[in-house]
Amino acid sequence: MTVPMVDLKIQYEAMKQEIDQALQTVIGSTAFILGPQGKALEQSIAAYHGVKYGVGVASGTDALHLALRAAGVGSGDEVITTPFTFIATAEAISYVGAVPVFVDIRPDTFNIDATQIEKRITKKTKAILPVHLYGHAADMKTIGEIARSSKLTVIEDCAQSFGAELGGKRTGSFGSIGCFSFFPSKNLGCYGDGGMVITDDESVAGRLMSLRNHGSKVRYYHDEVGYNSRLDEIQAAILNIKMNHIDAYNAGRRKAAAWYSKFLSRPGVVTPVELAGCKHVFHQYTIRVANRDAVKKRLDEAKISNMIYYPVPCHLQAAYRDLGMRPGSLPVAEQAAAEVLSLPMYPELTEEQVRSVADGVLKAL
Ligand SMILES: *Cc1c(COP(=O)(O)O)cnc(C)c1O
Repeated sequence: MTVPMVDLKIQYEAMKQEIDQALQTVIGSTAFILGPQGKALEQSIAAYHGVKYGVGVASGTDALHLALRAAGVGSGDEVITTPFTFIATAEAISYVGAVPVFVDIRPDTFNIDATQIEKRITKKTKAILPVHLYGHAADMKTIGEIARSSKLTVIEDCAQSFGAELGGKRTGSFGSIGCFSFFPSKNLGCYGDGGMVITDDESVAGRLMSLRNHGSKVRYYHDEVGYNSRLDEIQAAILNIKMNHIDAYNAGRRKAAAWYSKFLSRPGVVTPVELAGCKHVFHQYTIRVANRDAVKKRLDEAKISNMIYYPVPCHLQAAYRDLGMRPGSLPVAEQAAAEVLSLPMYPELTEEQVRSVADGVLKAL
């Protein structure tokens, strides 16, 4: 049995009529940019998170970039973030001329170790940018306390955590700004690129609406140099349909994760944790194994899908060589990069499929 890392076709097949109809409606309306679909999605995603504003943008990367701009982070500022994330988190900081300051992670959740943040705060620090990696919330309680006492903005990277919770509150609603990606394989994914920023701050929302549309509030009057970064109506129409199912999708992921953990709880495998009060939404199901590269090789030979998210932490990427950070500087992140292995994960996985992947992993150990 071959099980792919993700299967986007099952979802489409299940909603084909509804989606095809919605696409026809958008095309027939010829309203392709900044129309009613986008507005409806902004409202429903803001409401889902209990915040006032949602602003659709062209990607998750743009969501982070424009959020940093709207928060007033700029040249020479420092932003504290995690080294163990997709590179876009760090890139967004670089785009605004700020410097990413990487703080090591916790070994259990793979998220930024909040207890190490304070010692890295300087006069230049403007913001903290935690990532809820793999779908597990970062320690927002501690991060919130630090941010309040040091007067820092918190911008959350929720690209992998749509629907994840901490203490009954959804990720993206803890900081001043929450950033989402609708890349096709994300928990809430569209059929191209897309993203959204959510906030309770009216002025930040206004600034975002201007930044995404060439710095313009009134057509052809430009208050600042902005960007072309809008969520198009076709993507928004698809997302409006999928929003009706997001909780079921996440429930499916959690069910598959529980099967994996049941089958893989053996010596030599570290299965994912779900800390007390947290709801993990398993964008990825990621285990740790000491001899990862050998295990991966055997899985590849046996044609069992697996991926490494991420093999090189940001601080050791060639793109960030100017920061001058050496191997050994953030040991927990580096060890994670050497040990993590992600397995197939999508809402529709069956117990039989999970069992076959898990059997393969146990054989490859
Ligand atoms: C996917 C992802 C992004 C970027 O989102 P795009 O929509 O692909 O630009 C940013 N951060 C993290 C953690 C991601 O997983």
